[in-house]
Amino acid sequence: VTTFRWLWQRVLWLIAWLWRPSRSDADKALGPTPPPKPVAPRYKLIQVSDDPDVLAPHTVYAVGEGSHLWHVVMECPCGCGDTVALNVLPDDSPRWSLRDEPEGPTLIPSVWRTTGCRSHYILRRGRVLWCGSNGQRAAELFAQ
Ligand SMILES: [Zn+2]
Repeated sequence: VTTFRWLWQRVLWLIAWLWRPSRSDADKALGPTPPPKPVAPRYKLIQVSDDPDVLAPHTVYAVGEGSHLWHVVMECPCGCGDTVALNVLPDDSPRWSLRDEPEGPTLIPSVWRTTGCRSHYILRRGRVLWCGSNGQRAAELFAQ
């Protein structure tokens, strides 16, 4: 009996092996490879001595002279077209701290607009991280 059971298991194993999905079947099951999602470019930091007339997308302008910065200007990342100006002077309030990191600029704390689109986001190493309830909507707009 034992030998018969062993043989039967071998037969079942052989059938399973013969019916195993081939590599190409597995590839077909996955479907065509989707195109890579476009990744929003990182923000870059540019120092200027005057407020720029036209703001380029994905650009943070540090307005000042030499190491003395007055404020930071950027286009609102949600796509509403508004200009966001943030004070970086240490004696004024509210104030933001701007860090020029190799990957891109970081602004601390988060930016929470009290007017217009009311976007709430963090700029960290050149990437916008959305916060709050309108974050999802803004993130969708940002991805377009
Ligand atoms: Zn906005």
